[in-house]
Amino acid sequence: FRQSLAQSPLFLMACPFCGAKGTCRKRGSYERSLVTFSNGAAEVVRLKIPRVQCTCGKSHALLPDLIVPYLSYSLPMILLILSDYFKRRLTIRGICEKYLVSPPLIYRFKKLFLLHKKQWLGVLRDMELCAPDFVERLQTDSYSRFRDAFLRLTAYSFLQSHKNPANCKSPRLGPADAKPFCHGL
Ligand SMILES: [Zn+2]
Repeated sequence: FRQSLAQSPLFLMACPFCGAKGTCRKRGSYERSLVTFSNGAAEVVRLKIPRVQCTCGKSHALLPDLIVPYLSYSLPMILLILSDYFKRRLTIRGICEKYLVSPPLIYRFKKLFLLHKKQWLGVLRDMELCAPDFVERLQTDSYSRFRDAFLRLTAYSFLQSHKNPANCKSPRLGPADAKPFCHGL
């Protein structure tokens, strides 16, 4: 809760729906659960997520970096899974047992990761930077800045698979293929 508020100073925040800056005010919170991986085990934690409301009437949740919209698994956990997968440290079965996930989920993460990697890097750089190196970069670099830049480029969050209604309604102009993803996937 504190991280979300510290990360998104309200006076700097632009409303994802109308684009106005500094118009969002605190408006309660809600609780959700998140699957994380710590001390070698998967665990479910409860988080308090602050909500804000803009003067245009739309309210938004302030999600901390470790949450990918619409996903129950924390971002660090997904990156660990992808790292084990791409570096072939474990078999699919080994990954399933370690993180308590199913094979289709691993392939879903992999598909989204490769798709978003290409969108972020462009075709040429995407071929130059291999998947395990990109995972490592996301694990070590400042993720906040990447997250914000990716959202600006594509109008959805990194590894987000569902459309974000607010962003789809007034898409920020990203690459030509950004729009279909709002409706597809
Ligand atoms: Zn607004």
